[in-house]
Amino acid sequence: TLRISRDEDDGQRIFRFADPSCDLAGVIVVDSLALGPATGGCRFWPYDDAAAMLCDARRLARGMSYKNAMAGLPLGGGKSVIRRPEGSFDRAALFAAFGRVLDEIGGDYLAAEDVGTTPADMEAVRAQTPFVFGLPADGALAGGDPSPWTALGVFLSIGHICARRGISLSDSRIAVQGLGNVGADLCRRLHEAGARLVVADLHAHATDRLRADIPVDVVAPEAIHAADVDLFAPCALGGGLNRTTIPEIKARLIAGAANNQLGTGADAALLHARGILYVPDFVANAGGIINVAAEYLGHDRHHVVDAVHRIPDRLADVLDRAEAADISPAHVADAMARDLIARAAGAMAGNEGKR
Ligand code: NAD
Repeated sequence: TLRISRDEDDGQRIFRFADPSCDLAGVIVVDSLALGPATGGCRFWPYDDAAAMLCDARRLARGMSYKNAMAGLPLGGGKSVIRRPEGSFDRAALFAAFGRVLDEIGGDYLAAEDVGTTPADMEAVRAQTPFVFGLPADGALAGGDPSPWTALGVFLSIGHICARRGISLSDSRIAVQGLGNVGADLCRRLHEAGARLVVADLHAHATDRLRADIPVDVVAPEAIHAADVDLFAPCALGGGLNRTTIPEIKARLIAGAANNQLGTGADAALLHARGILYVPDFVANAGGIINVAAEYLGHDRHHVVDAVHRIPDRLADVLDRAEAADISPAHVADAMARDLIARAAGAMAGNEGKR
């Protein structure tokens, strides 16, 4: 009962899929294949409707193209989203059916864990297809849960911009929005470095669990962006930096893990006009995909550690260019990523021409 339809819009390939026998419904978007197979996580979320699902997948897939290009990975960008069914459902059967979708598509898209999915889900997918990564790690091999690597990359990015602005982490106040896999890990690293933390999550169990571990001030989710801190770290879902929230932000620095933090491109300019230094999300949060890619590329842990520690160098390059041109780092990073992809696409077209 598996159905897959294919479509194309504005250069993106769109695969809609459904298997009513196990409540599976979702979309895969292949944004770019210029640098390699389109790679990006699989999001499992209670979307309101098909339009919301498609919109999210398309934006996230574009973000993955930029992230992978800027991380220097030989990967294109793609994303899959699956509607989380209401009520009870057979999780293993649903992800197995998703695995069969990936197999049908045949390797242009490689999946991994994302918001709402776990390494165990990816194992259910792997039983059906080789086109999935982010599986539980095996000894010295790289791979497994991407979240700690994402948290490390964000932590190093925060260290970099604080140093740039003459703020010592041990003397800083930092607000973290969202205490999931990445946010909670980031909080522990920041606490160890001496930062004082203000945090928020929609779920009390997330704040309670962290509070049992380290000292944090908890504020309401709707107030966290306006906390009186040096740095704001969005680690929940996207779109948190927008026309409504930006005028209320007191932090002078923003760096977090969430994908698509800016509501629209214009919000980058708003932050810049307010003198707030914004670290482009896809530059800071590449640690997870670097770890996932290592599994695909056969790299070891050593390579992953090195590559994640190079994130601040790339960030420094983006920030130097943004300062020189007096524009938002978001615009600089977008342009750099687009340039890398266009060059790879140009080289690909050149090679085709020679055949
Ligand atoms: P997660 O689902 O484990 O955690 C998200 C947390 O945010 C949850 O605890 C949720 O309750 C909370 N939350 C949601 N909306 C909120 C709000 N409005 N205010 C406060 N809290 C809110 O997800 P994660 O894996 O930690 O990822 C967090 C973000 O980082 C996502 O945007 C994800 O796309 C991005 N990201 C994650 C990785 C990774 O390796 N996991 C890699 C790159 C980017």
